[in-house]
Amino acid sequence: MISSKLPNVGTTIFTTMSQLAAQTGALNLSQGFPDFDGPQALRDAVARHIADGHNQYAPMTGLPALREQVAAKIARSYGRTVNADTEVTITPGATQGIFCAIQAVIRTGDEVIVFDPCYDSYEPSVELAGGRCVHVQLDAQDFAIDWQKLRDALSPRTRMIILNSPHNPSGALISRAELDQLAALIADRDIYLVSDEVYEHLVFDGVKHVSVLAHEQLYQRAFVVSSFGKTYHVTGWKTGYVVAPPALSAELRKVHQYVSFCGVTPLQWALADYMAAHPEHVDQLPAFYQAKRDLFCDLLTPSRFTFSRVAGTYFQLVDYSAIRPDLNDVDMALWMTREQGVATIPVSVFYQTPIPEQRLVRLCFAKREETLRAAAEKLCVI
Ligand code: PMP
Ligand code: GLN
Repeated sequence: MISSKLPNVGTTIFTTMSQLAAQTGALNLSQGFPDFDGPQALRDAVARHIADGHNQYAPMTGLPALREQVAAKIARSYGRTVNADTEVTITPGATQGIFCAIQAVIRTGDEVIVFDPCYDSYEPSVELAGGRCVHVQLDAQDFAIDWQKLRDALSPRTRMIILNSPHNPSGALISRAELDQLAALIADRDIYLVSDEVYEHLVFDGVKHVSVLAHEQLYQRAFVVSSFGKTYHVTGWKTGYVVAPPALSAELRKVHQYVSFCGVTPLQWALADYMAAHPEHVDQLPAFYQAKRDLFCDLLTPSRFTFSRVAGTYFQLVDYSAIRPDLNDVDMALWMTREQGVATIPVSVFYQTPIPEQRLVRLCFAKREETLRAAAEKLCVI
């Protein structure tokens, strides 16, 4: 019998629920991905670059034209000038970037603070580096940082804190004041940050995303991670990037070059072209997804689910206490998929210690209007 290095890891909830949705024919509002395509010009550009012979390895750090587009977008969005050569690394997905950042700095015995509910890839990545996750629960109502719990969790072994804003699964946003408070708390300590900002352009109601890139003190110790998959509706392209100060980027690249060496070449060419031609895409994204959120929430208003509209991401949490308080959220998600025809994600799987009385499931609204209408129709009769 092999002695597993990840004994607690099974198949992810995203795979499980998407498979169940396919088997049962349920509308799949579980795993986060759009049911519509990315821009035509972007897809055409991939075909063109493949036809033009851009089919061999990209540079290890990423195609220069794409790194420059990322740097230009960061300057426009967050007012920071980053060096495209020494601070931007293109990775095959944000997940790989997060993994490499963790491997680059975490050693045996180090502790990494994560906030629950937390994205599923962080903990296995920390464990493979020999570290240990210390889970700090966010507030159960508004998913804000509980500063006392964070202070209590810090120890001399704390080597990293992983932030995620906009937050999956709750959609909560971190504020500038919270980043300032974090900076003050760790000012004299040797602690790195991974800031998972893959939903950076999905922030609603006129609010601006607060990036660690715009915070001088925090950026100096940070790996800021994003994903073209979310921003350009192409999750299956698994292309992302990590921005970090030169010394941290150099360490990240030592890992990245042996995990994958580089990202997929024609995808990088296409993204570089599209970003250069359509810098407005990222500015239009909030309105695009806010319209979906509002349509979906309006349609759900007559239902027995209760919710407050999310501030960011393409996920809406809904409380089902008025419907099946007898079911825990995993059973509720299974029942909704099998019996009601709508696949969802239970929130408890994002916790080390689930909150027993919580009755929340996550619905993905990155869907065509007809899908949202069909799903809402089913959800309103449960
Ligand atoms: N972080 C969070 C919070 C996510 O929701 C996702 C989406 N899967 C990722 C990272 C991974 O992004 P990618 O698909 O680019 O690896
Ligand atoms: N980030 C996606 C979600 O939260 C899932 C990605 C995956 O399947 N690993 O639904």
